[in-house]
Amino acid sequence: MSATLEILPMSSWVDTGGKPLVIAGPCSAETEEQVWETATQIKALGYANVLRAGVWKPRTRPGSFEGMGEAALPWLAAVKKETGLPIAVEVATPQHVELALKYGIDILWIGARTTVNPFNVQDLADALQGVDVPVLIKNPVNPDLALWIGAFERINRAGIKKLGAIHRGFSNAQETKYRNSPMWNIAIELKTMFPELPMIGDPSHMAGKRAYLFEIAQRALDLNYDGLIIESHCNPDKAWSDAAQQLTPAALGEMLHELHVRKPEY
Ligand code: PEP
Ligand code: MN
Repeated sequence: MSATLEILPMSSWVDTGGKPLVIAGPCSAETEEQVWETATQIKALGYANVLRAGVWKPRTRPGSFEGMGEAALPWLAAVKKETGLPIAVEVATPQHVELALKYGIDILWIGARTTVNPFNVQDLADALQGVDVPVLIKNPVNPDLALWIGAFERINRAGIKKLGAIHRGFSNAQETKYRNSPMWNIAIELKTMFPELPMIGDPSHMAGKRAYLFEIAQRALDLNYDGLIIESHCNPDKAWSDAAQQLTPAALGEMLHELHVRKPEY
């Protein structure tokens, strides 16, 4: 499969001092207090380069919490001001892109359930035409490398050169140890085709459980991944989404210390 992408280095959109990028924050922005508590605690650890929070949540079944939507964006703008950290949110529709940019969100990511659909990805690409914002693209839920590459091509053709890949694993038909199988070879193949494409491991969505985060994060770093995105919540057991896989900022700090991810120098 031959493909070309025009990609700017990760250092053009985030300063990690040459160390692995750390994106951390809750699965979902739930309340103003939860966002504030979590973000200020993560900032205090000194490890994070970027804060994440889901505002529009793609839930598998209806009736679950689907995100606070636009109401959460001012909370994120406030923690950006307080911590000085850039903010990343998931976008799935052109309206999400428009609102995220309106509130000064710094980095957008495309979720695994959106990457699978070329119509959705093209709609996002059209909305991003002429916009200068970094876009991270999660692998599609199914193990289809061409579909992942196609999403990069569509977004890149819209003029977005600040790109990154998020490897969050692939869904399983049966119960397995991990919530989503890493299938490391697929991400490695993508990185081999596009060595300049930053590869960010998402242990949270692969693991599905706190207990497995460390081993997956370590594997990603052993494979020379450019960064990690990890879900962290000030009260994980009470989280409104992905409770079992989130960890407190304090536990995140211990894990990053054990992983020898060094603190960036601001
Ligand atoms: C998320 O990052 O919270 C999320 C919904 O992820 P994914 O698209 O990997 O399922
Ligand atoms: Mn999540």
